[in-house]
Amino acid sequence: MPADSAVRLVLLLPDLLGTYGDAGNASVLARRLEWRGCQAELITVSSGQPVPAGGDLYLLGGGEDAAQELAARHLGRQDGLRRAVLRGAPVLAVCAGLQVLGTAFPGSDGNPRTGLGLLDVETVRLKRRAVGEVVAEPVAPGLTEPLTGFENHLGGTTLGAAVRPLGTVSRGVGNGGAQHREGAVQGRIVGTYLHGPVLARNPQVADLLLGWATGGPLAPLPVEAVDRLRAQRLRPGRWRRMPARRRVLTRLSRRARR
Ligand code: GLN
Repeated sequence: MPADSAVRLVLLLPDLLGTYGDAGNASVLARRLEWRGCQAELITVSSGQPVPAGGDLYLLGGGEDAAQELAARHLGRQDGLRRAVLRGAPVLAVCAGLQVLGTAFPGSDGNPRTGLGLLDVETVRLKRRAVGEVVAEPVAPGLTEPLTGFENHLGGTTLGAAVRPLGTVSRGVGNGGAQHREGAVQGRIVGTYLHGPVLARNPQVADLLLGWATGGPLAPLPVEAVDRLRAQRLRPGRWRRMPARRRVLTRLSRRARR
């Protein structure tokens, strides 16, 4: 990885798509690059601004139905993201972001809206909103660690022939449907229903994207405090009784002070 040229991280429309701290995914990527002695340049594109085609990695977060319609409209009016995808630039798309990249998703009135068609997925409304912790076993190549995150969505997503799931859900809902799939991977686009931010909770996914963006391979990083939090979230049966996040963090910081 060239240490002299910065990796351009393009954070798309955090003013519209940024629920549950999804913009933090960009911070995670930047920090993991810096830890490896590489520079990161964060390019934030707000609504109304042009989308650059020359980024190294693109990020889309989650959002409410009305906000995601605006996001789809903005991104559909210009070709920056499409050109970047055709060039092979990796994209992480969370929840509303995943839905917007697909062929269709429900608008705030429940009627279908046209997506960007960059991912072969289609989203319709579920019977019931999916809210809570998710655990999924990864099926995408390059991932071995269980995936964890928080979901809150009314849309359920069906995968077309061109995409593979990111994982198989063992707890929670994910994409919805009987096959218990979570997320979608097509080329270098990774879509997921997981918030957290997802890259803070799943460092392996962060490094998968960074490996694609930089041409890899990436130097391993030392074991981090996040591993302890991951272990707690993944422990079987534990998540239902799990204490509030604040209590978990308090316990961790107390332990770190000892
Ligand atoms: N508005 C979408 C839904 O409810 C996406 C929600 C989200 O991004 N968390 O399905």
